[in-house]
Amino acid sequence: GVNGPALGAGELVVDLGALAANYAVLQARQPDARIAGVVKADAYGLGAGRVAKTLYDAGCRDFFVAHLGEALDLAAELPATARIHVLNGLAPGAEAAAAAAAVIPVLNSLDQVARWEQEARRRNTRLPAAIQVDSGMARLGLAAEEVAVLAADPAWQEAIEVVLVMSHLACADEPAAPANLRQFECFRALAARLPAAPQALANSGGAFLPGFGLDLVRPGIALYGVDPVDDRGSPLKPVVSLGAPVIQLRDVPAGTGVGYGLAHVTRAPRRLATIGVGYADGWPRALSDRGAVYAGGIRLPIVGRVSMDSTIVDASALAPGLLRPGDRVELIGPHQSLADVARDAGTIAYEILTGLGARFERRYR
Ligand code: PLP
Repeated sequence: GVNGPALGAGELVVDLGALAANYAVLQARQPDARIAGVVKADAYGLGAGRVAKTLYDAGCRDFFVAHLGEALDLAAELPATARIHVLNGLAPGAEAAAAAAAVIPVLNSLDQVARWEQEARRRNTRLPAAIQVDSGMARLGLAAEEVAVLAADPAWQEAIEVVLVMSHLACADEPAAPANLRQFECFRALAARLPAAPQALANSGGAFLPGFGLDLVRPGIALYGVDPVDDRGSPLKPVVSLGAPVIQLRDVPAGTGVGYGLAHVTRAPRRLATIGVGYADGWPRALSDRGAVYAGGIRLPIVGRVSMDSTIVDASALAPGLLRPGDRVELIGPHQSLADVARDAGTIAYEILTGLGARFERRYR
């Protein structure tokens, strides 16, 4: 809390207003489609409950998680009018719990269809499901031959109400990739062989491809403020800022070995600041001798290897006395975006976000 003791960890601030604004940007982009919220992996690390409730208040009624356990947790947070879909499908043995909680499994195989049908017949009712087809990613969903099996014998439809037919794009973050149109056409052809139901293909990247919105769009990363294609000139607002405290400052002469392996040796006298964040927090070790933090808008390059709980930066560019122990430096914020950090670490924003550890205190505003 504001008046509590300094607990020493970094701070992850989630701007729920920006999240709601990004929801509105996507809805304006696809006015005829329902905009869902992909909140798997604890809403990419931002807190599924808070994120989903904010999206619900912004008008969202469709939510996607990966696992049944995530769906059950989320169902406890949201009104019963929220539809919660389980992307990784119907695991063997999960049928009764999924049905009891009224979650919507994404049926990815004939076996899953058969087990959901059996559960519905046992309950003497019709159960809702999404059906996923593989339109060309080879990850999840029914292949064309399996769609043909379902089309040949519609008896399963007595027990299963198809509320969504969906697929997923492999290359949506590359708008010009020929695979996008190939997948679109494959998806439309497969969906035409299934019961008439709302259709969904697009993730964040797909939401920006003209004509790909169909009936429902499943954005994750765009809601969280990262433009799937280019973070410059994006209409999306940053949602995440990340800070960590200075824990010690020291002045060292030229020729000083810094950090594990003494992998960095100073070429001139330097003022070093040790920051209380490390790879155990999900602050990537790949940032060693790459990337930076910011203080007062000034770039402080990371020197040497990122440690488990600390990172050493070169603070020589700051006037003496400007940076003190307890001050917070910017890891992600106005001067350095999530996409910048991901680029410096040689990875994607998704991996940075979902990796941010429990030691970051989450704050919402
Ligand atoms: N749909 C599916 C099936 C997914 O697996 C994901 C996440 O990877 C998404 C939608 C959301 O993707 P994005 O965060 O790129 O919008």
